[in-house]
Amino acid sequence: ERVFLARVGRPEGQAPEGASAMLTLHDLTDLKRIERMRADFVANASHELRTPLAAVAGFIDTLRGPARDDEEARDRFLAIMAEQAQRMSRLIADLLSLSRIELNEHTAPSERVDLGRLLIGAAEALRPLAEARGMRVELSLDPGLAPMLGQPDELTQLFQNLIDNAIKYGRADSAITVSAAPAGPEDLPAAAAALKAGPVLRVAVRDQGDGIAREHLPRLTERFYRVDTAGSRRMGGTGLGLAIVKHIVNRHRGVMTIDSVVGQGSTFTVWLPAAGR
Ligand code: ADP
Repeated sequence: ERVFLARVGRPEGQAPEGASAMLTLHDLTDLKRIERMRADFVANASHELRTPLAAVAGFIDTLRGPARDDEEARDRFLAIMAEQAQRMSRLIADLLSLSRIELNEHTAPSERVDLGRLLIGAAEALRPLAEARGMRVELSLDPGLAPMLGQPDELTQLFQNLIDNAIKYGRADSAITVSAAPAGPEDLPAAAAALKAGPVLRVAVRDQGDGIAREHLPRLTERFYRVDTAGSRRMGGTGLGLAIVKHIVNRHRGVMTIDSVVGQGSTFTVWLPAAGR
């Protein structure tokens, strides 16, 4: 259903006593859709923040009242409150990242980035988290990677979000592979055909996890979209990680493709234009 704004005016240059009027129609459909998405987003964000806040407020009441003298309960409740407060900080940090990246999305980043070094740093930062789950992070970097133009902090966040998901949704004791290599025009999937005009870098993050059913794939990068709300929330996710990833990829004029086999694992591949186009 399309939405129009109609304006009645006088055709330009026509004398006031002229009899004709001009009707202009402005198509507001896209504007309305964006407005609705914003309203949904604010509603979702408020709901996501309200849940942990309600838990904290509830425990404060309990600690002031019935559990006042129960030392064991107090420690347990304080631990839960700390966890909920952390969840709120994570949500706020992700919301801020998202709005910062969105603000800059229309300007192409221009710093020269050595993707190999950046990936080593991103993987190192998450290695302790992976090891805590008995997982290995394996890097396979092509030595001939061309430099690219980008924003290093955003690119680090992009790959850390993907590796973090691989750790959260991968099987304990399995391996995560991060690989980067130049991609020729014949390697590009249809979704990345627009990048054919120049050299392309391909970075893939592969996990051995439960995989994702096909019907979820198109919605995965939507804000707050989670495949299994209970399971994903238990992993402490905010549902914003892949939305942030998508915006960073867009800003770098790249494309992300997702391949997943239920029961085997998922591969998130990012195709990025290399410098020198
Ligand atoms: P979250 O913070 O919940 O992880 P994301 O935006 O990063 O949010 O991911 C959205 C959802 O996509 C997750 O809740 C999870 O259901 C699914 N998902 C993301 N990455 C993977 C993966 N590597 N394997 C399986 N499912 C995944």
